[in-house]
Amino acid sequence: MLSREQVWELARSVHAYGIEVRRHIHRYPELSFEEHETHKYLAAELQKLGHSFRSHLGGGTGLHVVIEGKQPGPVVALRADIDALPIQEETGLPFASERPGIMHACGHDVHTAVLLATAKALQSIKDDLPGTVVLIFQPGEERNPGGASLMIRDGVLDRPKVDAIFGLHVDPYLQVGRMAFAPGPVMAAPDELRVTVTGRGGHGAWPHRTVDPIVTAAQVITSLQQIVARNVDPIRPAVLTVGLIQGGTAHNVIPDEVSFVGTVRTMHEEVRRLMPERIETVIRGVCAAAGATYRMEYEHGYPVLVNDPEATEIGRRAAIAVLGEENVGAMEPSMGGEDFAYYLERVPGTFARLGVRSPDNLAPHGLHTSRLMIDESSIAVGVAYYIQVVQSFLTGDR
Ligand SMILES: [Zn+2]
Ligand SMILES: [Zn+2]
Repeated sequence: MLSREQVWELARSVHAYGIEVRRHIHRYPELSFEEHETHKYLAAELQKLGHSFRSHLGGGTGLHVVIEGKQPGPVVALRADIDALPIQEETGLPFASERPGIMHACGHDVHTAVLLATAKALQSIKDDLPGTVVLIFQPGEERNPGGASLMIRDGVLDRPKVDAIFGLHVDPYLQVGRMAFAPGPVMAAPDELRVTVTGRGGHGAWPHRTVDPIVTAAQVITSLQQIVARNVDPIRPAVLTVGLIQGGTAHNVIPDEVSFVGTVRTMHEEVRRLMPERIETVIRGVCAAAGATYRMEYEHGYPVLVNDPEATEIGRRAAIAVLGEENVGAMEPSMGGEDFAYYLERVPGTFARLGVRSPDNLAPHGLHTSRLMIDESSIAVGVAYYIQVVQSFLTGDR
């Protein structure tokens, strides 16, 4: 077992490398499932580090690294997502994105850098590890069906069989040097709703000769809000947001059709099952009353992310060991979705938050914004946490 000082020494020794990796990946972001250059870069770096790995997984751009210790023991997995978002960067950083309209605005560049720097750090201590460390670099976290599900299909939890998995996400509101954990359901299942309401168009002056899909769609959307208010158990969170509505061409023309799309987010399986059924009942009723017809599509996204209580405690204690009790807090549940949930359906583990806010940044920009800023000293924090969680888990000193 490395002492706290030794863990930090090791984490600091790979910090410059981690920053270099992060800036490279940040400069050349790629969209979900198109991370070909990132994949090539990661493969080259892993080759240099001398780790054995499988590449071209998860639809083509994922990597699976297996680091075997000298002694037999349990298998612990760590995961990073590698994809970026369709956002035009506005940070003004010297290493800002060189790809127009694409940016690492969810911090996956940091996740990847932390994991690759951890791979470098593990190189020097792997002979002392009683067990195996699996590193998963996965594509496509930001897009259905989620790279995690494809990586699992390609055997990253089975060859070798993983006993526990740990992951983290940057948090732009949490100060650097801090982490946050919580057991149980902490992130939502993000499902998608697509609806088209069809009426009969005509002149705006003679509505009685039409079936107005605009008025009908407006009633449908308003009525849908009552599902969360009246049908869902108030202590179980649910969100129904219509984010886009389209229809019509002119102020005096009643169109034939209006369509809208929305996101439906829940934290419990029974609420998740209830939603599409209630939504369709409301749409059917309102449309019938208006004489309109409808088409509804409902697409299930990622599962609810449920942190295993025991693994969460292992992660929390590992963070306390390297950061001190005062810097490890409780993670607030959020209605965001995250495909790490797929791994947690299969093996116990925990998904934590990593603080990346500079102490002097008092008005941070959030994830998925063009001005997201990361305090890069968070990279060493992430590495120290991962080294500690690996040695805690493998040695059983939890
Ligand atoms: Zn994101
Ligand atoms: Zn993300």
